[in-house]
Amino acid sequence: MSDIPTFEVDSVTKVYQSRGRRGQAVEALRDISFTVAPGQSLGVVGESGSGKSTLSRLLLALERPTSGSVRYRGEVISGRRERDLRDFRRHVQIVFQDPMSSLDPRMRVHDLLAEPLRALHIDVDEGERVRELLASVEMPAAAARRYAYQFSGGQRQRIAIARALGPSPEVLIADEPVSALDVSVRAQILNLLTGLVRDFNLTMVFVSHDMAVVRHLCDSVVVLYRGRLVETGATEEVFEQPREDYTRELLAAAPRLRAQRGLTPSN
Ligand code: ADP
Ligand code: MG
Repeated sequence: MSDIPTFEVDSVTKVYQSRGRRGQAVEALRDISFTVAPGQSLGVVGESGSGKSTLSRLLLALERPTSGSVRYRGEVISGRRERDLRDFRRHVQIVFQDPMSSLDPRMRVHDLLAEPLRALHIDVDEGERVRELLASVEMPAAAARRYAYQFSGGQRQRIAIARALGPSPEVLIADEPVSALDVSVRAQILNLLTGLVRDFNLTMVFVSHDMAVVRHLCDSVVVLYRGRLVETGATEEVFEQPREDYTRELLAAAPRLRAQRGLTPSN
């Protein structure tokens, strides 16, 4: 495997001008640096508002950093024109938090899975590819003819994962992929993801506010607090011997922390 990191995030700061109380600028990320090696699963943890989704959007080149750079396999992707990102779009796919809003409920599953293949001009037998993708997320082939609204949240997240796998990506970015789901189906979806990462040798960036899940799934972890990177390292090391108080707090009392600060656990 090559030595070139899959992602190199170098001194990234992201400031939003628009929102925020009284319209002042919001510094969503401040001077963030880390790398993701090929085949690695990186967890990004932090409470709601710590900048996790902002970081996901920067890794996906959906937004550009205010300063600093994001490289994918050695090439700067931040600020590139969309037509120069076609290979990148194929190789880096996302699974969003809420499949109820990320999948158009009025579309047939076949079209939901075929759409990215068409958009990226991937030359395959659509019917065959859709069956393959459904099988990889343990859904019956007959699901292809039905509409997204006919499925439960857990099933829709399976469909969303299948859609992300369609272009045979190298990287999957999952932004809180089970937070919107029923507690009863979360483990199934996490196990499915673990199996897919292994079987397809995917590099994964897994965003979560749930430390236990990250420990289960990820080789290494980045801990964000109010837009700063407070700690990073191999998951076991960070969990066994957190160097920062905030990480310790997150580990010991994540639910209490959220409740105290009046934050919702969902984002
Ligand atoms: P998380 O995913 O960890 O909950 P976010 O990345 O969504 O955190 O948000 C980090 C901070 O940036 C928050 O203060 C949020 O309000 C702000 N923010 C995120 N997106 C925008 C935006 N498009 N415009 C203005 N502020 C934003
Ligand atoms: Mg978020």
